[in-house]
Amino acid sequence: MSKQTFPAASILGYPRIGPNRELKKALEAHWAKQTDEATLHAAALELQRNNLAKLTTLGLGATDASLPGDFAYYDQVLDATIALSAVPTRFADLAATDGTINTAGAFVLARGDESRAPLEMTKWFDTNYHYLVPEIGESTPIKANAAALVESFTAHQANGTTIRPTLVGPISYLLLAKAEDGAAADFDPLVRLDEVVNAYVEILAALAAAGAPWVQLDEPALVTDRGAALAVPGALAESVYTTLAAATKRPALLVTLGYGTAGNVERPGETQGLLARAGVDAVHADLIRGALPTANFLGDLAGSTLVAGIVDSRNIWRNNLTTSLQTLQGLRAEVQQAGGTLAVGTATSLQHVPHDVALETKLPAHLPEWLAFANQKVSEVITLAKGLNDGQEAVATELAEADAAIKNRAEFAGTTVPAVRTRLANLTTADFSRSDATTRKVAQEQALDLPLLPTTTIGSFPQTVEVRSARAAHRAGTINDAAYEGFLKEEIARVVALQEELGLDVLVHGEAERNDMVQYFAENFDGFAETSNGWVQSYGSRATRPSILWGDVSRPAPFTVPWISYAASLTNKPFKGMLTGPVTILAWSFIRDDEPLSVSANQVALALRDEIADLEAAGISIIQVDEPALRELLPLRSKDQTKYLGWSVDSFRLSTAGAVDSTQIHTHLCYSEFGEIINAIDALDADVTSIEAARSRMEVTEDLTNFGFSRGIGPGVYDIHAPRVPSEAEVAELINIALGSLDARQLWINPDCGLKTRGYLETRESLANLVAATVAARSTL
Ligand code: GLN
Ligand code: ZN
Repeated sequence: MSKQTFPAASILGYPRIGPNRELKKALEAHWAKQTDEATLHAAALELQRNNLAKLTTLGLGATDASLPGDFAYYDQVLDATIALSAVPTRFADLAATDGTINTAGAFVLARGDESRAPLEMTKWFDTNYHYLVPEIGESTPIKANAAALVESFTAHQANGTTIRPTLVGPISYLLLAKAEDGAAADFDPLVRLDEVVNAYVEILAALAAAGAPWVQLDEPALVTDRGAALAVPGALAESVYTTLAAATKRPALLVTLGYGTAGNVERPGETQGLLARAGVDAVHADLIRGALPTANFLGDLAGSTLVAGIVDSRNIWRNNLTTSLQTLQGLRAEVQQAGGTLAVGTATSLQHVPHDVALETKLPAHLPEWLAFANQKVSEVITLAKGLNDGQEAVATELAEADAAIKNRAEFAGTTVPAVRTRLANLTTADFSRSDATTRKVAQEQALDLPLLPTTTIGSFPQTVEVRSARAAHRAGTINDAAYEGFLKEEIARVVALQEELGLDVLVHGEAERNDMVQYFAENFDGFAETSNGWVQSYGSRATRPSILWGDVSRPAPFTVPWISYAASLTNKPFKGMLTGPVTILAWSFIRDDEPLSVSANQVALALRDEIADLEAAGISIIQVDEPALRELLPLRSKDQTKYLGWSVDSFRLSTAGAVDSTQIHTHLCYSEFGEIINAIDALDADVTSIEAARSRMEVTEDLTNFGFSRGIGPGVYDIHAPRVPSEAEVAELINIALGSLDARQLWINPDCGLKTRGYLETRESLANLVAATVAARSTL
């Protein structure tokens, strides 16, 4: 069989949420029972048609399969679960008699119902997108159901566009799955691989019968440590793709390998080469996060196409087209030497970037020309393919424009700010360290006079409809600054009074002034900008609007101090000020590509250090610096982790080390599985660390005890993720478990996380129970 040539320019995927969040609106109206399924379906089809029309206007071929067929109502991993009819046992009643699951059933998997929790959600690689974790057991049904894929292909075909149906690949699917509850302790979903591969053979046949020329299988898990071991010569990926490629009836196959280097990092391209030899028609490499493949390792491409993912799909900067074209020309020589053809694409799906820079109306004037959102990236891919195939002169204008923008960016005042650079250059190791923990403890005990098992919260109090509408009104200009400030002060006073009434020991101001724990900080720092429409899907119908870090960071003026010191002035109780840490601020923003992240992290750290100094001057003696994203940015490959943990911990220390001994520094982390980074958490050198622990019933205290963690620790005793009130007995039980392994003198009592998504009724009751259980526990010590 002669191999099909992959289109010269393509993208791996496109944002699904819609330029005006059409998908969000359609889904939420349907879930609210305002529309039926047919209406939802029609809205989704119209959104996809508009997207495809846009992509062809931008220059992607309408009929050469360069258009991505990656639409998903909720999540691409859920769609693979549907295509495999892999309905977990606890949802078995939702499956039809032939084992398939329909749209309504799929939404129950995604969102749960009265009687059961939804599939677990977890971060997709090192991004802020969350996928629904498949639950696979020994006997989870696995049965091909290509209906949705075929229907979508056919509908677009009838409309004159040939999409490339896209599915998470079989190996990644199982690596992303977890063992179903009740499976044997050593059960590994990967043992179901043969059945999954057989189902994929059937799906491929169905798509071939429908006339699909190409299919895309995404195998990003092959860039993780575990998956990489399966992607070297002689390992599992080779046999799986030999089987799939040998299928008698199938479309041409593109296998994508985004988010890093697949297989052996020392031999970039080896995995692509082995997949091509296995018979895969086109293989992809991520040239942004992954290493550049070379003929040395590609081996024999066997007539296949290598799709070079050279346009960054995780960040929003304009591509340096001149440099990229040079890279592509060099790579083409290597690829041809290996017997293959080169095509141009994106590093991953463009789902991680917003739709269109042209929709931004409020960006600072210098920014738009530096940026490329999804639509601009499509044009970049097309330009690069054209330059590669028709010669540089054919795209001279585009290259010149990009060069000019990049030059402007580099030279713009604010990109590099001498005062910020001098301050960084003058840092010494002393700036990263406080005095020893014991000295601090003594000073803090004298200053704070806290009871045993001090009770506190993680910071935010419920963000009620009133709070959110006041903020919206202020933004829209319908209430003025003074009115808004007055409103927030009343809100703060209420939150403080409530905490006093409940008898909490360490009070907070409640964060009512913050739209978001990162955006609020970005808005108050120089070097960041806000988009007005830069939405990126985070899960299901939810999208976030990350800030853009474009220049050197500094803090023009104190901004949390007025709110926090006002709140503290209303009480005689110890008071805790609340800040977001440097790593989290960067993790949830678009970051610079012209500076190492570690440099930006230290700049943000210094800005926070200034804020901490001002909080101290205002009399605040407990300050919490949240780092819920510390673990999220942990590199996918273990060899890269030490370096990351080094600079990220340093930036936290830099932000907090200016505090005097008697100031108690807290941090908060949003997860409990931190055994693997417990060294780093200890190295943060915070006086008190609060973590999530209620759902795992204090499991984490074991890790802490084994490690010999001697700092203050607040394992959450109240799961704030569920809308239910924990009883006093439940809280008491968790406190007891914690006391079983931790020293009473180090234990703090707090919820798992902030209360901003909860309502006041449940919050009041839950906190009352938390305080009552603590008071009872104290009396037994
Ligand atoms: N202080 C923040 C809050 O309470 C922490 C949120 C988080 O950890 N994600 O909302
Ligand atoms: Zn949290």
